[in-house]
Amino acid sequence: MLTHPLKLLRQYFGYSQFREGQPELISAIISGRDALGIMPTGAGKSICFQIPALMAKGAVIVVSPLISLMKDQVESLRQAGLPAAFINSTLTSSEYRNIVSEALKGTFKLIYIAPERLENLNFLNFLNEISVSMVTIDEAHCVSQWGHDFRPSYLKIAEMIGMFKNKPVVSAFTATATPLVKEDIVKLLKLNDPVMVVTGFDRKNLYFEVNRPDNKADFTLDYLRKNSGKSGIIYCITRKLVESVHEKLNAAGIDAVRYHAGLPMKERKAAQDSFIYDQAGIIVATNAFGMGIDKSNVRFVLHYNMPKNIESYYQEAGRAGRDGEKSECVMLFSGSDIIMNKFLIENSDRDKDAPGAPRSDKTHELRKLSQMIEYCSTSSCLRSYVLRYFGEKPDGCGCGNCGSCLGGGELTDMTERAKKVLLCIHFMGGRFGSAFTAEVLRGDNPERAREYRFDKLPVYGSLKELPAAAVKDFISALAAAGYIKVDDSQYRTLSLAEKAVSALKNDEKIMVKYKDAGIKTKAKAAPKKAAAAEAAGDAKLFDRLKALRRELADKQRVPPYLIFSDAALNGMCSLLPSTAAEFLEVSGVGQRKLEQYGKIFMAEIKRFSDSKR
Ligand code: ADP
Ligand code: ZN
Repeated sequence: MLTHPLKLLRQYFGYSQFREGQPELISAIISGRDALGIMPTGAGKSICFQIPALMAKGAVIVVSPLISLMKDQVESLRQAGLPAAFINSTLTSSEYRNIVSEALKGTFKLIYIAPERLENLNFLNFLNEISVSMVTIDEAHCVSQWGHDFRPSYLKIAEMIGMFKNKPVVSAFTATATPLVKEDIVKLLKLNDPVMVVTGFDRKNLYFEVNRPDNKADFTLDYLRKNSGKSGIIYCITRKLVESVHEKLNAAGIDAVRYHAGLPMKERKAAQDSFIYDQAGIIVATNAFGMGIDKSNVRFVLHYNMPKNIESYYQEAGRAGRDGEKSECVMLFSGSDIIMNKFLIENSDRDKDAPGAPRSDKTHELRKLSQMIEYCSTSSCLRSYVLRYFGEKPDGCGCGNCGSCLGGGELTDMTERAKKVLLCIHFMGGRFGSAFTAEVLRGDNPERAREYRFDKLPVYGSLKELPAAAVKDFISALAAAGYIKVDDSQYRTLSLAEKAVSALKNDEKIMVKYKDAGIKTKAKAAPKKAAAAEAAGDAKLFDRLKALRRELADKQRVPPYLIFSDAALNGMCSLLPSTAAEFLEVSGVGQRKLEQYGKIFMAEIKRFSDSKR
């Protein structure tokens, strides 16, 4: 009965070691203690309740708010050979009856349920009739009004737990861990002296980068060509931008789907499925996309615009690389992103004026935005910036895996150009925004300039050699570096900050993290793999295995990453297994997957190796 957890990890999930936090949580749960795990996306929270489920008599009830995620998790457990089911509104009544009768027979180790079920008395009676070893609450922050996805039906969970004759163990998991939310989870879910495990926020496999391209669309096309064949998300700040980026990609022959709340439900669902099933490589979306998406092989998340705060950014970017493989998070930043975000914050509760609705705290949101801008403008380690933001203390040496640490976008002496801009703003008297300022600097709008006699200024037309967008970007880089103040009114008028006044007065050097128009991408570090040829060979095999995975997935109508993760395919490429024992060595291959897929994958690997002889 008490099979060692590590043995189960190998046998069912094909992993050789536990990750940070998992052993503590698992042993606490097995010993009968309540537990709370706060771990970032992709850290491996599921295994913390799935392994105890394997060891216990009876079933684990998993409350999860996200219907689509539920289906995925259950399918992934089935693929690993673990009997599981879900109960939510997508079931037909005969499916439901079936699951209930199997559950009463004790067939399932795990039963995922939607919280809304708990409001139904019949359902509670059913739960009371099966043997429940543990109740697990996934996305436990949903119980708290302080969290970002409060779900009223989560408040029913404590009641449900209280109704069992023998109180089951309760375990809760989330990636959100502000102190208020944490307190609420313990209190509202009535956790009894829980073991609490909080692991770091760092996602080591993610590479972070910020770019200020002269032309975002060109940058994106270029980036997608360099990353063709990979699965990625492009986040845009508005629906309109989603449409226009999506159109540009399609015009360039790139296979992309779009997703935003303005599209009919059916179309959204189709786009989402096509992305999840690896039919479309790219999805262009607003931040409405992503909740409840568990796709593990997202290789990059490209932000076409800067989002409103670091929390949103980290959550969205964090959808890359859930499988632990190297993935990229790239943000494109421009001055107009600042303006758009301010606009959105300022107008955020226009249509929410229901009586009693809380007004969002705009000062607070603007402060968060300025921290986001600071992230885009810093020349030091991006990862350290984020970790510090979340209250961690990264060491000061930099991570070695972000745009700043790998060299790009260094502080540059831009004194000469900056002086022109600052003087221009000074002469214009703090009454105009960046668009007209850029026009004056480029000599673009002579009539309007003449009206104010700005055509007589010494700096008039002094930056005409730069494209208009580059001038505006440079202005926003100066704003981000603290030389220019942008006022909060709708006109966003520019004026000189104290730092600029003193720099001009004392003839100081003006250093800005800025890249000139024309330099489109940062110099990337050379790939670490020593033999480029070997890497290319690996890539070919990887593509073949991916195609095979997709074929098998299509047959079973499941997302490809549930058959094998990208990490497992990579493992096959480097180990080139030819026996069952070798195949089991691949991380992510457990007993069931060996039986199901070992032969067919090893045959493909053999064909590939033979063809190279
Ligand atoms: P979370 O729920 O914390 O976001 P998941 O439970 O979905 O994360 O796990 C993320 C990925 O990490 C999954 O592909 C999972 O199989 C993998 N994983 C979990 N534990 C381990 C481990 N000990 N070793 C290797 N991979 C693991
Ligand atoms: Zn770094």
